Amino acid sequence: MAGKARKKTAPATADAGRHAAALRAIPPVDECLRRAIERPALEGFSRAYLKTVIARVQDAMRAAIAEGRAMPHDRAALIDALLDEAERAIFADRPAMRTVVNASGVVLHTNLGRALLAEQAIEAVAQAARSAVNLEYDLAQGTRGDRDSLLERELCALTGAEAATVVNNNAAAILLVLNSLARGREVVVSRGELIEIGGSFRIPDVMERSGALLKEVGTTNRTHARDYEAAIGPDTALLLKVHPSNYRIVGFTSEVSLPAMAEIGRRHGVPVVEDLGSGALVDLSAYGLQREPIVAERIAAGAALVTFSGDKLLGGPQAGIVVGKRELVARLKANPLKRALRCGKLTLAALGATLRIYLRSAELGTELPALRMLRRTTGELGAMAPRARDILCERLGPGFGVDIVESTSQVGSGALPVEEIATIALRVTHPAMSADAIARLFRTAEPPVIGRIKDDAFQLDLRTVEDASMLAVEFAKPRS
Ligand SMILES: *Cc1c(COP(=O)(O)O)cnc(C)c1O
Repeated sequence: MAGKARKKTAPATADAGRHAAALRAIPPVDECLRRAIERPALEGFSRAYLKTVIARVQDAMRAAIAEGRAMPHDRAALIDALLDEAERAIFADRPAMRTVVNASGVVLHTNLGRALLAEQAIEAVAQAARSAVNLEYDLAQGTRGDRDSLLERELCALTGAEAATVVNNNAAAILLVLNSLARGREVVVSRGELIEIGGSFRIPDVMERSGALLKEVGTTNRTHARDYEAAIGPDTALLLKVHPSNYRIVGFTSEVSLPAMAEIGRRHGVPVVEDLGSGALVDLSAYGLQREPIVAERIAAGAALVTFSGDKLLGGPQAGIVVGKRELVARLKANPLKRALRCGKLTLAALGATLRIYLRSAELGTELPALRMLRRTTGELGAMAPRARDILCERLGPGFGVDIVESTSQVGSGALPVEEIATIALRVTHPAMSADAIARLFRTAEPPVIGRIKDDAFQLDLRTVEDASMLAVEFAKPRS
């Protein structure tokens, strides 16, 4: 190998000799480890962890030698240099998941973890984390219970459904529904509703993995009642309606309404399932937003099952909720897949607390952070903008321009995709930096700030920044 490298780069023989000697001089990991555990600063760290850090520093050293950098000749000095570097690496080592400032203007940003939880939900998570809970324990009978029963009362009260079950996310909910009710049988879906969300979730792919057979009907822009009628046969298990969350088909269009589909289903004895995506529990127009379909209305309109996400407009933790007919929900619960898709006590605690906020809906708009952010007016945002700008100017130092501008925010997560909400943003400019370079500067701040680039300029949308002091971040020193 050494011969090959020599031929490729063809350095002078003396140089090559020095390289090889420097590489050989790097002490073995075990020797470094023996010295590492003598260092007070490294006390308490696991040997396995120290080993991986030392190996990483050694790799960096080899790379530096290859670049021609000189290393200490004395073995003890070499080990010291290596361990100094390992110490620096360990103390700079942060968890990969970090808190960031969402200034993207997308309130339910899938890549930033979607809905922030209400304080009551956060408190419920902390309590469930600290303590044993009756997750699957029937306190009245002293026997094994059902974790779904913990939230069923709330979900049924809020949706008018007979029964409910909760899984890890809405994709899991759809997978469970299809696998439980339609494995080896046909599911009829309009071609206008064969959606893809975020690249990895596509209705046809989930359908295939569930073992159900997709029967497409209609065309992209128009599907009629007679299309569903013609598709139903002895192998039809379900009619599926999918809410086109993240797009709209406009112009010469026609879709079959849920009540009409339910009527067709009733005549043929085939249940209608609806994937609502975001799924609002209440009428959002009461909060100044556009209407999204409400779960209770879809149940009333004849859906046998409705699936929706916990962390979109609902404003809770990541979860997939299925509500509907008792007999169908019972079949979902009896499926062994349910065990693989179920959620844990922390999720159920957060979701339960969130649902209880809905049960006394007077404070909904202030207690649920997602709704609270969506409702902030440009007046409120404009009032905080000067202080936010001043904080940012002080942190950025001279050379940067920070202007208060009008812009638009989005709900995100495919909810209300065409609705743009008027907002106030800070536009950050620098005569010597591109918008991309400024975005990078903010991403590398402590904590990282995620903005957006609009009209070739970097912007921080204040809608998702609830307090100006959140922008008092530390920027990385410019590398000279
Ligand atoms: C978001 C969405 C999903 C996926 O939900 P997750 O909770 O992200 O798994 C499925 N269907 C529709 C219509 C959606 O909008």
